[in-house]
Amino acid sequence: MPARARLALAIALVLASPLAARAQAPGLTAVAIGADLATGAGGTTKLTLTLSKAVEARAFVMERPDRVVIDLAEVNFQLGPEAGRKREGLVSSFRYGLFAPGRSRIVVDLAQAATVGRIETVTRAKDGAVLLSIEFQRADRDAFRRAAVASDPMPAARKAAAVPEASDTRPLIMVDAGHGGIDPGAIASTGVFEKDIVFGFAQALVSRLESSGRYRVRMTRDRDVFVPLSDRVRLAREANADLFVSIHADSISSAPQVRGATIYTGSERATDAESAKLADRENKADAAAGTETQAGPAQVADILQELTLRETRSFSSGFAKGLRAHLSPVMEMSPKPHREAGFVVLRSPDVPSVLVELGYLSSKRDLDLLQSETWRSEVTGGMAKAIDAFFGNRTTLTRPDALKRSAAIAPVSP
Ligand code: ZN
Repeated sequence: MPARARLALAIALVLASPLAARAQAPGLTAVAIGADLATGAGGTTKLTLTLSKAVEARAFVMERPDRVVIDLAEVNFQLGPEAGRKREGLVSSFRYGLFAPGRSRIVVDLAQAATVGRIETVTRAKDGAVLLSIEFQRADRDAFRRAAVASDPMPAARKAAAVPEASDTRPLIMVDAGHGGIDPGAIASTGVFEKDIVFGFAQALVSRLESSGRYRVRMTRDRDVFVPLSDRVRLAREANADLFVSIHADSISSAPQVRGATIYTGSERATDAESAKLADRENKADAAAGTETQAGPAQVADILQELTLRETRSFSSGFAKGLRAHLSPVMEMSPKPHREAGFVVLRSPDVPSVLVELGYLSSKRDLDLLQSETWRSEVTGGMAKAIDAFFGNRTTLTRPDALKRSAAIAPVSP
């Protein structure tokens, strides 16, 4: 086709449909504007994505809980808040999001065992939209299990951020916004996701800390992407972070009156059953995203590492105490504001680590505050003060760097 005709056609397509226009630009990320479930012949259930351009899709099943995982090239999901939340046929619900840079994922929770049938791509003539459909077929437990065995490609280990410049000796704070991408975390009754609330808060904390000029600050995720729990720990350790602060916001739908913030530090033994349950729930984030949690930090192998871990835990508790003191005046705290539990992200043997549950998405009052700019600014201010106090005191509490280095050699996971 002559260039002029091609240009005319391209312009016509732009005028005809924004979806078609995007399809002409191979560099752009595919946009999904629909994800619909329908029951088909023979009791099959079909999930159809309406896309701006074709993307490759690969699907596999996982057991306990029963799921179908659909891996795609990066897709920009522009779906309504209700998408994936209604049961249809073999599907009880589904989640979607960025799984890793350049890769998106849909995790389909199955109402009963099912395997993946046909995956088809057709172009809709009227507007050039690409319809990608994935069919699920009822399967018995044995067939499902056999299909599940041949699956789960672990995401390739991600490289840590660049090694810090040797000349910059300012403490390094690793800010960890919980959840992300395919894993929304808790969901408020208004449809707001924990992953978005905590990411906004984490960004505000980062700019507060950076503006003081006293710290180097990094994030375990700097956008709406899934990061496995063990990677969060690994990123902090490989960067040689001096403090790890994980940000979450829980939800208890059965008790909407429960509210306030809680600071957690790591421990093999939980303070109470409630904390143990919460840690369990948070530790399932990887499973929710269709991957398994990798082995935690290497077992404490020798006396040197044992000492490091003990020392690190006392630093973590010291920081948690200071944090409580600085947060109490600016925010509602839960009745027991400092607790311990076995969170995977708090298992670094050599990086003092805390996890802050900012409040409850199930409490109307907490939810309003979590979305308030004024509240956020006061709370990040309180956190920054606690961090200043922690590092101010630390000059007198010299931390044996030799221990830190020796522990840092141990790999986070085999
Ligand atoms: Zn969470």
